[in-house]
Amino acid sequence: MTVTFEQIVALPKVLLHDHLDGGVRPRTVVELAEKAGHALPTIDPDALAAWFRDAADSGSLEAYIATFSHTIAVMQRPKALRRVAREAVLDVAADGVVYAEERFAPELHQAGGLSLQQAVDAVLEGLAEGEAEAAAAGHPIRARLLLCAMRQSDRADEIAALALANRDRGVVGFDIAGPEAGFPASALGAAFAQLRTARFPVTVHAGEAAGRDSLDEAVDVGALRLGHGVRLVDDIRHDDAGAPVLGRLAHWVRDRGIALEVCPTSNLQTGAALSIAEHPVTTLLRLGFAVTVNTDNRLQSRTGLSRELHLLVTEAGWTLDDVRTVTLTAARHAFVHADERQDLIDRVIVPGHAPTGTGRHRA
Ligand SMILES: [Zn+2]
Repeated sequence: MTVTFEQIVALPKVLLHDHLDGGVRPRTVVELAEKAGHALPTIDPDALAAWFRDAADSGSLEAYIATFSHTIAVMQRPKALRRVAREAVLDVAADGVVYAEERFAPELHQAGGLSLQQAVDAVLEGLAEGEAEAAAAGHPIRARLLLCAMRQSDRADEIAALALANRDRGVVGFDIAGPEAGFPASALGAAFAQLRTARFPVTVHAGEAAGRDSLDEAVDVGALRLGHGVRLVDDIRHDDAGAPVLGRLAHWVRDRGIALEVCPTSNLQTGAALSIAEHPVTTLLRLGFAVTVNTDNRLQSRTGLSRELHLLVTEAGWTLDDVRTVTLTAARHAFVHADERQDLIDRVIVPGHAPTGTGRHRA
């Protein structure tokens, strides 16, 4: 039975890996750039959307990174941050997402004189506005926030403290992003120790650009989830009969249920995978890893969660059961407390995934 895109949109879904500066609406970039006096490659929203995708598709990491210089440049004032956060919630809710963890790096939003706390405040306000508006539009969603520290800067201690200071206000986790090669997670050990002592959840971008060592480091610093993590397949070989043989790291990640935040289209753009059909996510799912599917950068990848899942259905042979499995896995690995996760599963996700034919079924 084929699974249509509309069916996937109608399913309640969970999104754990979505960057605010990678999800700005093209028209919003244009409007905010005009206010900020920032020059863009073009001020036509459709042409700009194509420019973002083409730059991200170009295979050049420099061109890919340059796209973020534009979105970040227009997100330096509280109003702009609030708007981008609000619109992100509205957009993913309209795509059928019922629980989202958005993320951003506060340290990249201080060019206009904002304190780190002011940047966080603006985003939290925007998320709350988005939740209220989405509910009023018939798409109820819970939106939480992760704070990213950049691997290449030396502010991880500060960002970890910031996350802890906001843990009861909607910040539910900490992440590190930026170049993996040359900037090991272990160099930020003090930040991770601070978070571990405070019992605060951590995810780490790892196993995207770099392989085993980077994944090992992420596990060492206590990551409960791995951003991408697809290079774990490097630690899985096949014996002469074709049966998979897991290495110590792959076993550890699977045994401990460390979740993988896989972002298929983004991986194609950065070269971490060659095609959706051959993307390691399918192998990892079949082997029983805690696989979740995510968007990463909706603007640069011109995608949404429904589109990512539908690509896996049409190009990698995924079934509706596979979509259900990764949805439940994502809900179980959300960084909110276990009782809230269970409530989300019982009241929203399972009723919405009941085999009652097509159409929307929300609790
Ligand atoms: Zn990411």
